[in-house]
Amino acid sequence: MLTGESPALPRTGDETLPPSTQPMRVVIPFVAGGLAPETRALGEQVNAEFVDVGGSDTAYFELVRRLWAREGFLLVEQDVVPPVAIIEEMSACERDWCCGPYPQLQMLKSREGEPRGRLRLVLDIGLGATRFSDDLLRREADAMERAWAISTRHWSVLDLVLMREVLMKERGHLPHIHVGHEVRHLRVEAAYFPLEPRLDYHHRHWARSR
Ligand SMILES: [Zn+2]
Repeated sequence: MLTGESPALPRTGDETLPPSTQPMRVVIPFVAGGLAPETRALGEQVNAEFVDVGGSDTAYFELVRRLWAREGFLLVEQDVVPPVAIIEEMSACERDWCCGPYPQLQMLKSREGEPRGRLRLVLDIGLGATRFSDDLLRREADAMERAWAISTRHWSVLDLVLMREVLMKERGHLPHIHVGHEVRHLRVEAAYFPLEPRLDYHHRHWARSR
């Protein structure tokens, strides 16, 4: 269930990002009406910075580009709810790039790559619960400039371009996957549950075929 944030939400100005006073900078990009109350509560618990990226389709790219030029940071997307334990674990981790996998919807495609109109639930990594270290940002200082240069800069392609194209394929990095925590993805949970009646269809089909 997603509802609008209250006016009391602490916001970081979109144009300035002062040095973080927290052990690990936790940033939650959001758009008006999209911030889940559970994510907001988590963010307040870990002193996250909430950044409004609703101004344009490229604002998420611009935010991460600015963050990339500073110190290490941990991103939590507006409808993802990692438990505090995984935030603490990733914050203390010595690896360069950490991810907490969470449920995502994947479109099933034919052999030819055509969408088949069905979605399946997968556990995958994404920017929704991800940490980048100081060291990675120093060593791959131009990674966001590269992502910026080779993409449309639309928010929907940021994790694909930055994580898969630049960090994995071009630079050879692999994320450190933090398992053993339930990282929820509320939008996906809400979208997937209506598909449950399909189970009933298959059951009836199976019963008829006997
Ligand atoms: Zn790690």
